[in-house]
Amino acid sequence: MPTELLFRDDAYLRSCGARVTAVGERGIELDRTVFYAASGGQAGDSGWLRRADGLAVRIADTRKGEAPDAIVHVPEAPAGGEASAGAPALAVGDEVHAEIDWDRRYAMMRLHTCLHVLSCVVVAPVTGGNIAPDKARLDFDVDMSALDAARIEAGVNELIARGAPTETVWITDAELDARPELVKTMSVQPPRGAGRIRLLRIEGIDLQPCGGTHVRDIGEIGRVRVTRIRNEGRRNKRVEIAFA
Ligand SMILES: [Zn+2]
Repeated sequence: MPTELLFRDDAYLRSCGARVTAVGERGIELDRTVFYAASGGQAGDSGWLRRADGLAVRIADTRKGEAPDAIVHVPEAPAGGEASAGAPALAVGDEVHAEIDWDRRYAMMRLHTCLHVLSCVVVAPVTGGNIAPDKARLDFDVDMSALDAARIEAGVNELIARGAPTETVWITDAELDARPELVKTMSVQPPRGAGRIRLLRIEGIDLQPCGGTHVRDIGEIGRVRVTRIRNEGRRNKRVEIAFA
């Protein structure tokens, strides 16, 4: 069953009321959620599902379900090491308060948005990426000699210090087909077929397809440093960043 993805319209929502629509081996599905499911290189959210009677289920991870827009909240494995078998304590129809670990998510929102900025400083096709709460990276199809850590760090921090609002915009498949230059990320083509595609615009700097969670202004990212540049393969020159 599709889940209403509240984070898509407001990444700053920390919690919401929801109803349990499915409890399976993989985890718990809700009719609506603030939990972002792992995708586009960004880790899934962790947090809590709480019932009014005090029952609380710790959510360790969030994954995409089988149906489009279905999201599975994966409970922490029970103590004792046995494999998690869903959350027998919650049942379909239960009303819960769903709350994410905000500090962790906000760190990922800042680093994720920083990768957009990074992709404007390093002008080359993106061949991969990953976002964790404490570090993030992009892989570029570029010559190693084009990647200078000090120069990249200065360029990214200059844009962040200047600040720029971000905005989600939607375009049709046909509009994207007419502007293929929008797709920087060769490894993850935006999903077609739903009729419309979500883009992130950073005013005056960048516009590219992305379904992730972003900060409202790149100034919120704060200072970052380039922690490592490494050759991970012919088409994967990796730039890793972390908070300064
Ligand atoms: Zn993004």
